[in-house]
Amino acid sequence: MGSLLKGSLGTLALMAASEVLYKLYMYWRQSRARENESKQSDGNDITEVFFFPDKEIACKTHFLSDTRCFKDNCKYSHGKTSLSELYRYLSSCRKTMDVCVFVMTSEDLVGIVLSMHQRGVIVRVITDDEQETISGSRVWALRKAGINVRTDHSSTYMHHKFVLVDGKLIINGSFNWTRTAIIGNQENVIVTNHQKIVSAFHSEFEKLWQQFDPSSVYDTELTKRNREESESCGDFEKI
Ligand SMILES: [Zn+2]
Repeated sequence: MGSLLKGSLGTLALMAASEVLYKLYMYWRQSRARENESKQSDGNDITEVFFFPDKEIACKTHFLSDTRCFKDNCKYSHGKTSLSELYRYLSSCRKTMDVCVFVMTSEDLVGIVLSMHQRGVIVRVITDDEQETISGSRVWALRKAGINVRTDHSSTYMHHKFVLVDGKLIINGSFNWTRTAIIGNQENVIVTNHQKIVSAFHSEFEKLWQQFDPSSVYDTELTKRNREESESCGDFEKI
């Protein structure tokens, strides 16, 4: 009986040990994959295209935290997806992040921007003024954290969906930062460090940043009102 018990305990211990070894092996393998990917990112030429929808939402903990996620029953994906690749490129940011995205309701994607800001990355955000206040919008969280957010003040849309990472990498496509875009819609995203393309987006961001400066919007409106007033005075004189 004693030897049977010892045998069972031994088997259990062996199973537990092999489980631990397996998890350590997986951790090592994923770390190696991550290192290789970051080496590729440091290379001279990055041009990638990603398509959505993903079948499952990528596990943010697994792809972004140092501790990773080893939950067997995790409801999110631990496999590589288009979103996990976006996580990787966004989180590679070290100095500046310029976000110009029409709709931002994804807590996970906005969370990356917030964590970059907390790490000292200089973050600027441009979004659409009407989308800022829709149900589920996370723009308030960006503003609350002290991130500089500017919006268009027009009846048309600020419809861009791009991010400049460290002024060197552009992430651009049809992809809004929403759950529907991740697992519902057909979307495309191009990631490239092609200098001419990055430079064009950089200029566009700077142009819009100036254009949507609240003080310049005020100036523009004031100028417009003054012009209208002077024109109406002119009309009056004509009469
Ligand atoms: Zn997970």
